[in-house]
Amino acid sequence: MLDEDVVLYERRGAVAWVTLNRPRYRNAQNSAMLYALDGAFHRAAMDDEVRVIVLAGAGPCFSAGHDMGSPGQDLDVSYPRITMWPDHVAKPAIEGRLNREAEVYLELCRRWRDLPKPTIAMVHGACVGGGLALAWVCDLIIASEDAFFADPSVGQGGSGVEWFAHPFQMAPRLAKEFLFLGERVDAIRARELGMVNRVVPRAELEAATMEIAERIAAKPAFGLAIAKRNVNFAEDAMGLRQGLEHSFGWHQLVHAHREALAGPPTAPPQEPRPTAG
Ligand code: ZN
Repeated sequence: MLDEDVVLYERRGAVAWVTLNRPRYRNAQNSAMLYALDGAFHRAAMDDEVRVIVLAGAGPCFSAGHDMGSPGQDLDVSYPRITMWPDHVAKPAIEGRLNREAEVYLELCRRWRDLPKPTIAMVHGACVGGGLALAWVCDLIIASEDAFFADPSVGQGGSGVEWFAHPFQMAPRLAKEFLFLGERVDAIRARELGMVNRVVPRAELEAATMEIAERIAAKPAFGLAIAKRNVNFAEDAMGLRQGLEHSFGWHQLVHAHREALAGPPTAPPQEPRPTAG
């Protein structure tokens, strides 16, 4: 069921390079890619020779977000589950989407964030929507000068990507601007916001990422794992975990709202009912 080619895995010394590999579709995330990514992260986690993991994107960008309609879109395909959420296929009404998104957009991201080895997102070009989730769950973000970040979902009738870490990636007021306007934030601005660690020329991105990865890989692995765990715990204590849970529920409500507005597939389009007052 899993298509290995949608994620590439390579070990370069102590560094595992995991590459999103749907370049033709700007690394749009279908379930096949997300489960393959989980497999790659698990492989790196279990390999004692791997000390640091780099996540990159093949082709013109890091990731343009969730798959919204490529030929490989696989919303109705069952995959072996990572969590205890039941299969989503053929579930009625809200249940199917909730089951699917709870696993592939929330629990998998949480699992990758807590992977006890340092992870580095190497971002070039677009990092949009669901692309943000993959970059944000990594410990460091190294971006090239052409990289940009955006969550346009509010403008599309949504409320923000499922992995709602925005208030932890930038100051709350800036998170609101990021969501309300949906504008592209370039790499330099993203570094100013504290979302990105380093910005380098495109031609130097891979070498700069490898240089930092190798410096980290030279440190004792156990200390790195505990340092990471402590920072993640602090974020959770500040409310990240609760915020993700809270926002995910409201995200599902917004999906239901949009479907209610659209009406049944065979019914004529309905206008939203005017509210009193
Ligand atoms: Zn969703």
